[in-house]
Amino acid sequence: MPLLRSVRGLFKRPTTQNWSGLIHAYGRWLPVSERTPVVSLCEGATPLVPAPALSQRLGRGIQVHLKVDGHNPTGSFKDRGMTMAVSKAKEAGAEAVICASTGNTSAAAAAYARRGGMRAFVLIPDGYVAQGKLAQALLYGAEVLAVRGNFDRALTIVREMADQYPITLVNSLNPFRLQGQKTAAFEVVDELGCAPDWLCIPMGNAGNISAYWMGFKEYHQAGHCRNLPRMMGFQAAGSAPLVNGSTVEQPDTIATAIRIGNPANREKALKVREESGGGFAAVTDEEILDAYRFLGREEGVFCEPASAASVAGLLKRADEVPAGSKVVCVLTGNGLKDPNTAIDHSGGAFHGDLNPDLETVAKVMGF
Ligand SMILES: *Cc1c(COP(=O)(O)O)cnc(C)c1O
Repeated sequence: MPLLRSVRGLFKRPTTQNWSGLIHAYGRWLPVSERTPVVSLCEGATPLVPAPALSQRLGRGIQVHLKVDGHNPTGSFKDRGMTMAVSKAKEAGAEAVICASTGNTSAAAAAYARRGGMRAFVLIPDGYVAQGKLAQALLYGAEVLAVRGNFDRALTIVREMADQYPITLVNSLNPFRLQGQKTAAFEVVDELGCAPDWLCIPMGNAGNISAYWMGFKEYHQAGHCRNLPRMMGFQAAGSAPLVNGSTVEQPDTIATAIRIGNPANREKALKVREESGGGFAAVTDEEILDAYRFLGREEGVFCEPASAASVAGLLKRADEVPAGSKVVCVLTGNGLKDPNTAIDHSGGAFHGDLNPDLETVAKVMGF
């Protein structure tokens, strides 16, 4: 069967053929042992998709790739952290986990906790969680508590809950979360054969930028890549405490996943910027939506608005990217998470209330 063989030969990473999750694949880099009961949904091994339209728009031989982490089991990178956090919670005998969430953490916590036979409690800011994410938490069987107030308030409450009651916190303050999330950097290097020159990523609590940096540094130390990226973190202008240097009391942005005014990993993120020679910048909701539409129309990639902040940031700082650079933009979550924003802001052509006949349809199509 020469045809089958040649098609098989196209796969660059044979590991994905028998992929059974990132703890299985990268266990020797993670704080697990044979005694750890691995709770996995085969997360990780997400595609690194070339972005020809974006590369062309930047010009000067710059090559952009998209790390499409919305391909994870619950549709965001949070699964990488949650497989670790929940496996370690189970190892420690926990019966329940809790998190505060702008949506994706609650979806991932719910799925992994239930998979591991634990209860999941999630606190969300009432009215500010995208519909798909709420649907997931409910369907996976979490107990959802919607509190009046923003994410920061919800996080304060769950931290106190985890201090006072026998329940494990699975927000990114949980160190196992970042351990799991650092595997995304391993995958990028495994795929590119080196670290990118720039890594563009949205920041909310800034756990993910810290995790990526940890992953790049560990691989670098082990000799898997000779270079390290500049870490470029982007926030929404109405919710940019790491850019402004001060807490935002009333964070506001269409990108609800990063609507966070008091980032839990502030100190870590500042260190990442310093160590990597990186930079932080704010992008407006308009710039986020432009990037969001561009990715859909020109690249065929549907991410959620928060994820598009990485591309909006890259476009904003494009002049600073050296010619011939390799750039990776992290697309943190799947576009289907937030159908309302897509429908309201797609700019797509919708022709409604048509007569069901050929003439009408042909006319609308311009024939
Ligand atoms: C959680 C999340 C972020 C922000 O990640 P942090 O680790 O909090 O900085 C960005 N995008 C999406 C889609 C998310 O779910």
